Amino acid sequence: MEKQPTASHFINGQYVEDPAGDPIDIIYPANGQPIAKIHSATKRIVEFALESAANAQAQWAAMTGTERGRILRKAADIIRERNHELSVLETYDTGKPLQETLVADATSGADSLEYFGGLAGSLTGEHIPLGESWAYTIREPLGICVGIGAWNYPTQIACWKSAPALACGNTMVFKPSETTPLSALKIAEIYTEAGLPRGVFNVVQGLGSVGASLVADPRVDKVSLTGSVLTGKKVYASAASQIKHVTMELGGKSPLIIFNDANIEDAISGAILGNFYASGQVCSNGTRVFVHSAIKEKFIARLVERTKSAIIGDPLDENTNYGPMVSEDQLLIAERYVAKGIQEGAKLVYGGKRIDQPGFYFEPTIFSDVKDDMTIAREEIFGPVMCILDFDDEKQVIERANATEFGLSAGVFTNDITRAHRVIGQLQAGSCWINAYNLTPVEIPFGGVKTSGVGRENSKAAIEHYSQLKTVYVEMGHMESQF
Ligand code: NAD
Repeated sequence: MEKQPTASHFINGQYVEDPAGDPIDIIYPANGQPIAKIHSATKRIVEFALESAANAQAQWAAMTGTERGRILRKAADIIRERNHELSVLETYDTGKPLQETLVADATSGADSLEYFGGLAGSLTGEHIPLGESWAYTIREPLGICVGIGAWNYPTQIACWKSAPALACGNTMVFKPSETTPLSALKIAEIYTEAGLPRGVFNVVQGLGSVGASLVADPRVDKVSLTGSVLTGKKVYASAASQIKHVTMELGGKSPLIIFNDANIEDAISGAILGNFYASGQVCSNGTRVFVHSAIKEKFIARLVERTKSAIIGDPLDENTNYGPMVSEDQLLIAERYVAKGIQEGAKLVYGGKRIDQPGFYFEPTIFSDVKDDMTIAREEIFGPVMCILDFDDEKQVIERANATEFGLSAGVFTNDITRAHRVIGQLQAGSCWINAYNLTPVEIPFGGVKTSGVGRENSKAAIEHYSQLKTVYVEMGHMESQF
C-alpha cells in the first residue's frame, strides 16, 4: 500500500508516536493479514491532544467565518484530488470494495467540508426588536469537541464531525475506531496542508478506554459519537455528569415497507442497497423488509436472482461490488445471528454461510417468513442479513414497523402518493426515504430518534449542535426596579 500514515497520532499539526501505548494490529479484511501497527494513546498523548486543542481554540474562533471556510474548502479540494489514494486506503482499512469507496467515502467527506466551509461565513445570531429596547444573539462556538468514530465509514465520520465543528470555531480531538484508524490521520494531514492552524484538528488512537478518558475530561465541551447503542448509553451518561453537549449517532433496525403497487425493480434495488452495500455494515440499513403478501413471491424470486449476480471478490478490483466484512469478530456475529434465525424458524432463502476463501467474506443472506418476535427481527446484526416479513394491512404494518426501541431510518416504496406521505408521517424514524433508500447527501439532516440517537449531522441543523447562542438585552431607556 502506498503512502500510509507515518505514526499513530496526529496532534498539533504533526504526526506523533508514543511506542509505550498498547500495540494494535490493523488487518486487511480481504485476506486477514496485518497491514499496519499503531499504538493506543497513552495518557501523555491524550494530554498533548487536549492541550493542543485548548491552545488553538480562541485564535481559531477569532478568525472570520469566511477565513475558516476557505481552509475547509481548500481541504475539500485536496481530498477530491487525492480521492483515488484515499479510497484505496479506505478499502485496505475497511475491506469495502473500491467501487464503493471511490464514490461514498472521501467524496462524501469532501462534500461535508465544502458545504460547511461555504456556510462558515454566514453563521450569525439575530437582532430581536423589543419596542424601545432590543436584544441580539451571538452565535458562539462550544469550545473543544471530541469526535468518536465507528469503523464502517471512517473518512466520512471524521469529516461529518469535524467540518461543522470547525466551521463554528471549535477545535476537535477525534478518536477513530481502533479497527479502522488510518484514514482520519490522512484527513488531519490534508487539513494541515490546506492551512488549518496547529491544534485545531487532532487525531488520537485507541480502544474505548481512550474515548472514555476524552469524554470525561472537564476541558471538553461537546462529544459526538457514532457507534452502538450500548456505547452511546455509556458516553451519554459520562457526558451528562458534566452537562456536556452531545450528538449520538447510534444503531438501528430500520423498516423498509414495500406496498403491492410499488415498482418492484426499484423496491428490490432499495432492499439490496439498504442491506448489502458495505456488506450490510451500515447503521441506517432497512433490515426489516416488510413486503405486501400479494407480491411476496415475485419479490423474493427476483431479489434472489439479482443477489446471485453480486460480484464477490478482491475489493481492490473495481468490478467487485461485494467485499468482505470488516473483521473476523463482525463475521462471527453475523454467523451467530443466522444460526439463531434458522433455529427460531425463519426460512433461509439465500446465502447464510462464510465464503470459503481467505478474509472475512460472508454471503449476502436473505431470510423470509420472519416473525416480529424473532431475534433476527429485533436486534441490530450489522451484517449482510436481510429479513423479509409479510404484511397485508397498512395500519398494522406501521404499528409493527414502530414496535422497536430503535428509530434511525425508514423507507416506503409505493406509487400511491398520498399513502407514501401518510405512512412516512407515522413512522418513528429520523431519516426517511420514499421510493429510495440510504441516500444521505450533506444538504439534508441525518440522525435518529428513540435509542438511535440525539442530534443531527449534516445540513444547517448540524450548526445548532456545534454552536450556542449568547443573548444580549440592550436597554435603550432607563432601568427600573421594584423599589
Ligand atoms: P462501538 O460502539 O463498538 O464503537 C464506536 C466507537 O466508540 C469506537 O471508536 C470505540 O472505540 C468507542 N468506544 C467504545 N467504548 C467507549 C466508551 N466507553 N467511551 C468512549 N468511546 C468508546 O461501535 P462500532 O462497532 O465501531 O460500530 C458499529 C455501530 O455503530 C453499530 O451499532 C452501528 O449502527 C453504529 N453506527 C451508527 C451510525 C449513525 O450515524 N447512526 C453510523 C455508523 C455506525
